[in-house]
Amino acid sequence: MAASAATPLELRPLGSTGLKLSSVGFGASPLGNVFGPVSESDAIAIVRRAFNLGINFFDTSPYYGGTLSEKMLGKALKALGVARNEYIVSTKCGRYVEGFDFSAERVTKSIDESLARLQLDYVDILQCHDIEFGSLDQIVSETIPALSKLKEAGKIRFIGITGLPLGIFTYVLDRVPPGTVDVVLSYCHYGINDSTLEDLLPYLKSKGVGVISASPLAMGLLTENGPPEWHPACPELKVACQVAAAHCKKKGNNISKLAMQFSLSNQDISTILVGMNSVKQVDENVAAAAELARVGIDKETLSEIEEILKPVKNQTWPSGIHQS
Ligand code: NAD
Repeated sequence: MAASAATPLELRPLGSTGLKLSSVGFGASPLGNVFGPVSESDAIAIVRRAFNLGINFFDTSPYYGGTLSEKMLGKALKALGVARNEYIVSTKCGRYVEGFDFSAERVTKSIDESLARLQLDYVDILQCHDIEFGSLDQIVSETIPALSKLKEAGKIRFIGITGLPLGIFTYVLDRVPPGTVDVVLSYCHYGINDSTLEDLLPYLKSKGVGVISASPLAMGLLTENGPPEWHPACPELKVACQVAAAHCKKKGNNISKLAMQFSLSNQDISTILVGMNSVKQVDENVAAAAELARVGIDKETLSEIEEILKPVKNQTWPSGIHQS
């Protein structure tokens, strides 16, 4: 499927930040070789293609590929040769290949290391990465105040929190002063097989918090090739998704395209962060958004897929030490 330059990618506001993010966001974990090797020249070409097709939001973390993703993204953004305010960058702190550390000292040092790797003076969003693995009370009383200081120092513009169990978001947002946390990044909870984030959207809206939803392809479950070896889903969920992918193919559709379009359909989510490790995937995902805007989603195939996935609907997996 060729990407259409005729239908520009929609820009959506991110909570109260004033930022406008492209509806399709670029998840840079694949640039850390998380889903297989990606060369430096490929990384540069993939990011360039994404930017040229209207993707303005790029997300990474020091954890992805043990800092490799940040380094690759930094090189690729520099190679674009455009003004810094033409793209929006988020990275994370607190999760590293060595383990978790959400202390004020570590996250304060972390941003300087990330800025050096990214070759940037500031990031737009700094997010506490996978907070369910830390003490949520420490996040509230120590980590977020440290990030507020980084905001004052101009190293970051906005503060976010990320993680899998949805209860972590309300726990933190109910305990910090209003306006302190600008953004939440949820993953694997707004897709065809799991849409539990939907129930939280009115609460997040009422708090003025921007919503980033990541992993529309459920980290590879909703692809024809299937998920990587390390994928945490149970075998039942993996099998059901592969049956759904095969059914889609039989109908002349593609499970990844349908999954992108499903996630993009909710306007209360600012951006759908998808991980892409080839120019072809960038083209396909942007084209999926363009097709959605032009003709809508293939409702018949979607409802058949939803029927196949019904027995495993909203099934997730344990993550961290807080399972709410
Ligand atoms: P994803 O659901 O976006 O799936 C990525 C996989 O799908 C990769 O293997 C990719 O090559 C493949 N893919 C992409 N487009 C495709 C297409 N058109 N056809 C077939 N396959 C395609 O999962 P993800 O990469 O884990 O999530 C996206 C991004 O969100 C990450 O890169 C990261 O930036 C962010 N994220 C953050 C957290 C967190 O903060 N805790 C967790 C998960 C993801």
